[in-house]
Amino acid sequence: MPYTKRFDGRKFDETRKIEAEVGVIPNADGSAMFCFGDTKAIAAVYGPRTLYPQHLQDPTRGRLKCIYDMLSFSVTERKRPGPSRRSIEISMVTEKALNPALKLEKFPNSAVNLYIMVIQANAGTRTAGINAASLALAHAGLPMTDLVSSVSVGKIGGKICVDLTKDEEDYKEKDEKDTTDIPFAIMPRNGKVTLLQLDGKITSKELKEALQTAKKVCNQIYEVQKKVLQEALNK
Ligand code: UDP
Repeated sequence: MPYTKRFDGRKFDETRKIEAEVGVIPNADGSAMFCFGDTKAIAAVYGPRTLYPQHLQDPTRGRLKCIYDMLSFSVTERKRPGPSRRSIEISMVTEKALNPALKLEKFPNSAVNLYIMVIQANAGTRTAGINAASLALAHAGLPMTDLVSSVSVGKIGGKICVDLTKDEEDYKEKDEKDTTDIPFAIMPRNGKVTLLQLDGKITSKELKEALQTAKKVCNQIYEVQKKVLQEALNK
């Protein structure tokens, strides 16, 4: 059956309800929360501070060190605590998605520690994590060229959709998984794409349409991020 109506009644290019806030962890130098509906991520930034062990120090620039994880009971089937292949991969792609926005050359021999914790997960956790992290880095007052905005876009039963839920990611047609998931992140001001992953199959025409939709939605997320930071500054 073609996917003509979304399970939760959203439009194909509509995200779940977005909620965002900065300053959620007073002990951190910068922090933020970002939700796509019931996917909730919290990010905390500490630093810049001197990087140890010393042999990892770079005299030309600071280093962003990201750790992403999900709480055991953030998902229906308990997730084993501690790092996994998946969390190591997501930590790495998150670092790569955020690095281009940071002016780390201003902090030689230093580290910026970024912790992303998913407290509730219903797909799209890496994209919610990147949005939270981008806000937290800005909230920490780190010099940045832009924010990074992120969303997942995909193809479900031939239809291009944004911000897929777990039910949509697992959608099957004739007993065969028929979903393509494309996590995407962009620096909206200069249009530089900083994250592009693809799980599934897609034609080049469909990919073009998917990326156009992702860009459009990231611009909407960017406006929310800017508003949240502006409101925090005005407080
Ligand atoms: N998930 C889960 N248990 C796990 C890992 C993932 O239930 O150990 C679920 C969770 O809802 C997650 C979704 O699978 O959001 C999709 O995971 P994926 O690896 O595609 O990354 P994400 O979409 O969260 O960025």
